[in-house]
Amino acid sequence: MKNLNNITTIAFDADDTLWINEHLFRITEQRFVDLLSEYVTDKTVIDKLYDAELRNLQHFGYGIKGFILSMIETAIELTNGEVKGCDLQKFIDWGKDQINHPVHLISGVEEVLNSLQGKYKLILITKGDLFDQESKIARSGLASLFNHIEIVSEKNKETYSSILLKYNINPIEFLMIGNSLKSDILPVLNIGGKAIYIPADTTWVHEAVSDSDIADKNYIELSSITKLIPNLEM
Ligand SMILES: [Mg+2]
Repeated sequence: MKNLNNITTIAFDADDTLWINEHLFRITEQRFVDLLSEYVTDKTVIDKLYDAELRNLQHFGYGIKGFILSMIETAIELTNGEVKGCDLQKFIDWGKDQINHPVHLISGVEEVLNSLQGKYKLILITKGDLFDQESKIARSGLASLFNHIEIVSEKNKETYSSILLKYNINPIEFLMIGNSLKSDILPVLNIGGKAIYIPADTTWVHEAVSDSDIADKNYIELSSITKLIPNLEM
């Protein structure tokens, strides 16, 4: 690993880095596809739902609430307004199921955070719906392991710069760890920080980047968070 000697602060993404998240969206999406299968093909449902999600990000931001509203809007569109009220209720109930789903930590997370605590300043940086993220952080039992917790609406260069400024952290001392090249890795490299990419089993297509985006980018990829400790000079 390249020069992690100077690192004083390690920040972690939350969804699909500390706990499992994205696959819950895919389960809800499959229920949605099944419900609309009498009207249109699976692919049409998935494509239209994704279009609605992207369109709605500017209105509702990331998270389950926006996802529910996107399902409602997509169903109205694909059924030409014929979708039943009881089906719309199902979308809302599925969203509530998802919001209340137990937080399942990714294997090894607690051990890794415990061994880093006290040796590094630890920050959790997650984007999405404030209430949902706060609830997941509380239910994860991990909050006390972090020096700071930042819930943001977007993870771009400006977001990371302002967090580093807020806590007076030099970018060369900053390491970000996450499962999204787009949100966790590239913006941090762009401001002079370091980054470790740990791919998750399921990643939302919106978080995908092109090969040219990551060409020559100096980040490390690990297969599991449990591989982190041997890569740090501790
Ligand atoms: Mg993530």
